[in-house]
Amino acid sequence: MSGYFDQTVWVLGAGQLGAMLSHAAYPLGVNVNPVDIDAQTLPQPGKNDIVTAEREQWPETPVTNILAAHQNFANKNFFATIADRFQQKSLLDKLSLATAPWQLVCDETNESQLHQKLGERVLLKRRMGGYDGRGQHWLKQAENSQIPNDWHNNAIAEKAIAFDEEISLIGVRDKNGQCYFYPLTLNLHQNGILTASVSPLERLNKYQPVAEKMLTTLMDAVEYVGVMAMECFRVGDDILINEIAPRVHNSGHWTQAGSNISQFESHIRCVTGLPMIQPSVRNKNFMINLIGCDLDARWLAVEGSELFWYQKEVRPGRKVGHINFSKTGEKNIRTALEQMEPLLPERYQETIAWLTKELLG
Ligand code: ADP
Ligand code: MG
Repeated sequence: MSGYFDQTVWVLGAGQLGAMLSHAAYPLGVNVNPVDIDAQTLPQPGKNDIVTAEREQWPETPVTNILAAHQNFANKNFFATIADRFQQKSLLDKLSLATAPWQLVCDETNESQLHQKLGERVLLKRRMGGYDGRGQHWLKQAENSQIPNDWHNNAIAEKAIAFDEEISLIGVRDKNGQCYFYPLTLNLHQNGILTASVSPLERLNKYQPVAEKMLTTLMDAVEYVGVMAMECFRVGDDILINEIAPRVHNSGHWTQAGSNISQFESHIRCVTGLPMIQPSVRNKNFMINLIGCDLDARWLAVEGSELFWYQKEVRPGRKVGHINFSKTGEKNIRTALEQMEPLLPERYQETIAWLTKELLG
């Protein structure tokens, strides 16, 4: 072994997040081993190895049974809480952290009660397993929409939030309980999927302290170690938590280009107990998610582009890669956006227009 220690970090799940954790750990001399939950060859973690996860929920398989039972599974007990929206919202309430008003959809819950309590538009969210806007169902009083049959006990109901914008905070907590934060990220979701992010933005600075305080409260309460992401709605000057991810997060991918320590490296440093320092962020950074598009070598010719292709089969609505940019100067930013636009499907015109407005507007 040529690293600091002979520990391997095993990642439960072998998607793009696991791949990017490996990629970030390599120059640190840390060995990371993402494992597909359905892998035929079973992992054999050593007693002193470390386990982390790239997903908050998993079915029981031979692989997940082995990894989840490991004594050094970072934040092990927290996953079950976060994976169930009912438990997640209950914890946020208990810690007096503001979220969208909500209630559990139980056997007796009916549509009119929900509208009475939560307003004309109510968003039902499956307790488990939803992602990228899947597992959601809108109840609109004007349309007399109904709670789907098997959603009783399996969903929560949230008030529709007329937010000004969606922002997120990527936080890091090390083994000594010290917290570190990246600047707030502004996010664009289209059809429930994150399409683009920007950070830092000067106008968001005033929300940074309150957001950091909220995430610190949560991370301290559960003695978290590693990277945690907090998705928020900004409503006027108020910040409401939308949801929490106990892992590296898509809205932090820009840190690969815009920070000396990416979110992936931060997570690896913390779970292994390596020294952590405050990440230093440079330039204006933006990320474009590649959703359902074919790989295109012309992206590589755009000045300053940093492509991450996930090597997944391309399907409509599926995240298959992202491109980061870390830039200074309006002219450089404009040039990159203008060069990117014709290289993406037509539906990205709205995305590029949003980035242009937020970065240059
Ligand atoms: P996931 O990201 O796991 O699919 P979210 O709870 O983050 O689930 O919801 C996805 C998107 O749906 C959010 O980013 C936001 O755009 C929208 N959304 C979620 N909750 C609400 C709400 N209470 N009111 C309005 N829009 C919402
Ligand atoms: Mg979300």
